[in-house]
Amino acid sequence: MIGCGYVGLVTGACLAEIGHQVIGADQDQSKIAALKAGKVPIYEPNLDSLIASNTAAGRLSFTGDVGAAIRDGDALFICVSTPPLPSGETDLSALDRAARQIATESRSPKLVIDKSTVPVQTGQQLLRALSVYGRKSTVNFSVCSNPEFLREGTAVMDFLHPDRIVVGVENDKDERMLREIYQPILDRHFNCPIHATGCPPEAPPPFLVSNINDAELIKHAANSFLALKISYANLLADVCDRLSANVDQVTRAMGLDARIGPQFLRAGLGFGGSCLPKDIRGFIWLAERAGVDFNLLREVERINKSRVPRLLEKARRALWVLKDKQIGLLGLAYKANTDDIRYAPALDIIQTLLTEEARVRAYDAKAMERTRTIYPSIHYAANSYEVADGSDALIIATEWDEFRKLDWARVRDSMARPLLLDGRNLLDPQQMKSLGFEYHSMGRPD
Ligand code: NAD
Repeated sequence: MIGCGYVGLVTGACLAEIGHQVIGADQDQSKIAALKAGKVPIYEPNLDSLIASNTAAGRLSFTGDVGAAIRDGDALFICVSTPPLPSGETDLSALDRAARQIATESRSPKLVIDKSTVPVQTGQQLLRALSVYGRKSTVNFSVCSNPEFLREGTAVMDFLHPDRIVVGVENDKDERMLREIYQPILDRHFNCPIHATGCPPEAPPPFLVSNINDAELIKHAANSFLALKISYANLLADVCDRLSANVDQVTRAMGLDARIGPQFLRAGLGFGGSCLPKDIRGFIWLAERAGVDFNLLREVERINKSRVPRLLEKARRALWVLKDKQIGLLGLAYKANTDDIRYAPALDIIQTLLTEEARVRAYDAKAMERTRTIYPSIHYAANSYEVADGSDALIIATEWDEFRKLDWARVRDSMARPLLLDGRNLLDPQQMKSLGFEYHSMGRPD
């Protein structure tokens, strides 16, 4: 694995779990030092135990010497970050660097598998870089695309029980090697570390083989469509807000239609994280460069960016002025069950509140350390009750299950004013109102 972030660590640990010999390599020496010391630098359910057991079994190791990992590997998975540039274009410099390292360090044939999300036609550039920088050696390189569809928060489960595995290849030999790598997952033939008593019966995942361009495009197309579904639900929420309808009822009924499906139809603060925001920007840029007007996705992006202002508009309406008010934030991660704060709505909320000189308290079981590096001056609380204590309003910014289970009567009693802004439609409006809260959510009648 070249790159030991969310994707590299999960892929590496899961491939080790199904029986492969895996080396995780990263240029970030502090990350590698932590992994070698048995500390997993990200929070992802089930990942720490998977890394620990496979490291102990000798199937998984980590190194900061990327060259050594390249020389040892037969199949090299590139899992480096591909962030957006200010123009929206995907920054492929980490991929380019990995390609140059592979070209110069390899001493034997390599199958180079791109798992990073990249614009269509990147595989061709990758192959060109490998042959140009590897011209002094006789090493043979094959390139293929193997986009990753895991979701943070359920990544291990998603990797071991995927809906599909997509590979973009140039020849049968590469297809065979990828099939061999994934065979235990395709056959459902491994001891699942999640379902201790056996996995529920399910059909094997389809193994979809295409050319490299198609595989690269599949990932961008899928993520953009998911973003579109979320923004659709959020725009419905705006309509519901104005016409006293309930978006939860509407999307629930919509989702029961098998042609639509229930997932990614929840109204709230919109999408964040490292994937959807950057992938739709990259896809818009790519389509427009190809002469296709993808205004549809620009709208998706616009709707998404209007979520935090919509919520704060509700806060202002209730609080009149924000200056000097104590606002408590429940949740910082961009979604539940992760510590990832990349493009998290909570960050935009904090920024606006600080600009308007409100006092901010926040709590998140997993994401406070990362947030502290960006906003060191806000008050980080030990738990939700400390956030509520003396607050003029509470904002739910992440749908962590623990917020659902709080003793809300205790929360109400400790607040300066029982105002609750539920940005994730996590709680039941009737129940909150009967507890005495002034309760506002997204697209549900106040
Ligand atoms: P990440 O930032 O968590 O991890 C990337 C890692 O790569 C970092 O640890 C970095 O130090 C390392 N790195 C960069 N260049 C390197 C090099 N030349 N040699 C060795 N290490 C290098 O990123 P991530 O979230 O794991 O995402 C990786 C890719 O996978 C991105 O393209 C992303 O879009 C895609 N993806 C992410 C997810 C997700 O949920 N996070 C899901 C599917 C696909």
